[in-house]
Amino acid sequence: MAEHDLGFAGAADLPSLDRLLGMPDFQAALAEFGRTQVTDALRHDLDACRAAALAGTLTHDTLAPAAFGARVTCALTERNCATLRPVFNLTGTVLHTNLGRALLPEVAVEAVMQALSAPANLEFDLATGGRGDRDDLVAPLLCELTGGEAATVVNNNAAAVLLMLATLAKRRDVVVSRGELVEIGGAFRIPDIMTHAGARLVEVGTTNRTHAADYRNAIGEKTALLMKVHCSNYAVTGFTKSVDVAEVVQIAKPHGVPVAVDLGSGTLTPLERWGLPHETTVQETIAAGADLVTFSGDKLLGGPQAGMIVGRKDLIAKIKKHPLKRALRVGKLTLAALEPVLRLYRDPDHLAERLTTLRLLTRARADMMVQAQRLAPALAQSLGEAYTVSAAPMVSQIGSGALPVEQLPSYGLAIAPAGGGKRGSGRALAALETALRALPYPVIGRIADQTLWLDLRCLEAADEARLALQFSELRA
Ligand SMILES: *Cc1c(COP(=O)(O)O)cnc(C)c1O
Repeated sequence: MAEHDLGFAGAADLPSLDRLLGMPDFQAALAEFGRTQVTDALRHDLDACRAAALAGTLTHDTLAPAAFGARVTCALTERNCATLRPVFNLTGTVLHTNLGRALLPEVAVEAVMQALSAPANLEFDLATGGRGDRDDLVAPLLCELTGGEAATVVNNNAAAVLLMLATLAKRRDVVVSRGELVEIGGAFRIPDIMTHAGARLVEVGTTNRTHAADYRNAIGEKTALLMKVHCSNYAVTGFTKSVDVAEVVQIAKPHGVPVAVDLGSGTLTPLERWGLPHETTVQETIAAGADLVTFSGDKLLGGPQAGMIVGRKDLIAKIKKHPLKRALRVGKLTLAALEPVLRLYRDPDHLAERLTTLRLLTRARADMMVQAQRLAPALAQSLGEAYTVSAAPMVSQIGSGALPVEQLPSYGLAIAPAGGGKRGSGRALAALETALRALPYPVIGRIADQTLWLDLRCLEAADEARLALQFSELRA
């Protein structure tokens, strides 16, 4: 045949699908992926071979049964690789929204594992045998920790704000300072959420200054709520004035108008105890007289994704009856994780050890420095002459809108292209960043000032060896 003379195979040389499937080269793939997937993948491969034969580019090597087996196994392995994968968060942002925010402590992991495979009293009252309320699993703890009268839990804080507004402010007015009309990443904007909840936003004050009189003058017959929103991801500085919660409460009270506060991160503990900057706690906000407070479960609180609404009993009761509550409710895995996390707060003396988020936020710089010094030589060796690697001080952030301007002194690896600042060094750094992301256990850092920074704040001792292994894979 002409094709053979040229070293190429023709369509007639293609083996049959059934004959290939019977060969030993396919038995492992059949056992792992099943007949349906292997047949489909093989058919696909044969189609590609046929097309190559017609184009005159099909080589005889391609047609060996072992080659078919290897290609099919490879394709199926890739196709069945999990899309949600663990990564190393070396970005320096501890609560990184795109990397899943808070990491759960071991007690929560164990509780989730149990809830995954065993029936549980999610909505079942073990005392009476009657129907229970899933909120009751955590509401008493939330009240104990925050001083609120009642509490309910939904899917996230955005849902908490939406549900609160839809219940209490439909077709009515909600007064918010212009300085607090925040946009959180991922299209959560206070004005938009108002619209979707059917509430009318009444903006008061200016971007930089809002006075008590602004709130006072805005109250009318249609006012459903005065609302304060935490400026999570920005700071207004300079010539500024805002009205604190206690004062807003004083203004609202004579009118019988409730005050709601969207705290965003909402910590349950005074962070200054651990040398961190102060962030308003939920307790303080309740104590200042707020009728309702909403906050996230997976930001500073350090738990699973969830949104809490804590506050006045009558208002929470109304909120719980709204049909949206059913649509926004949390699943059992969330509640399983949340309860032990909340319980950790009863023991503040062990909190920094046991609550992963707080442990990471309070890590000693010296600890990260030692890690950096241990890891730097291995990385330098993997990267070779083209880059310089040094253990270097750097600054981390809390992330997720908690204390956006505060920085935590940290330590890590600083990687710069050798010969610094030359043309093409930006490209060299971007290439390295891509290579780190492509590792089996992707390593995520950040580029700034012509340097790739790998902040080790979130690298706990147990994961250090795995990171070192990834660095050696980089060389391969
Ligand atoms: C983060 C944040 C939200 C959204 O919370 P999620 O739990 O991410 O839905 C809402 N409001 C404020 C002020 C926030 O900081």
